[in-house]
Amino acid sequence: LDRSPDTAETTRKLRVATASLSGCFGCHMSLLDIDARITELVKLVEFDRSPITDIKTCGPCDIGLVEGAVANSENVHVLRELRANCQILIALGACAVNGGLPAQRNHLDVGEMLEDVYRDIDEGLPCVPDDPELPLLLDRVRPVNEVVRVDYFIPGCPPSGDTLWKYLTDLIGGRMPRLDYDLFRYD
Ligand code: SF4
Repeated sequence: LDRSPDTAETTRKLRVATASLSGCFGCHMSLLDIDARITELVKLVEFDRSPITDIKTCGPCDIGLVEGAVANSENVHVLRELRANCQILIALGACAVNGGLPAQRNHLDVGEMLEDVYRDIDEGLPCVPDDPELPLLLDRVRPVNEVVRVDYFIPGCPPSGDTLWKYLTDLIGGRMPRLDYDLFRYD
């Protein structure tokens, strides 16, 4: 990551964007689980598009963190925008890395599934919402690397706050991120 000009006084803050696609926000909650260290983090980075800032579109950034799988047309749009604007894109958590829980619908037919979920209880007839503002579902839920290039993957459901802290501070400090076994254990 280029943080030039390279003097202590003028080193610029890195810009970080975060986005949630089809997930549960648990990975973003883990980011907040770094607790008081977030005050150290904001000395090093500035947040761009993120639920933390409520900024809805992504500008040029150094690091993008993406949580959740790609399940609908809006997810594709958000993910492509993030990839286009971020030097480094990180897939955060099981849903982003391999589809996770949302991908459990992949063995079902999307049309039949919608009709079952939105069946009118009294009439027994399907009444699937079709407002044009609703994003269209993809036929299959995909991990983010099936849609855009991804630079790093952080598995876990969710990865812990300590894991994210170690990973991000390595990256921001210009080091290759290294995680000890304890930060990757899920038993
Ligand atoms: Fe939620 Fe787990 Fe998916 Fe993260 S990986 S968005 S915690 S279900």
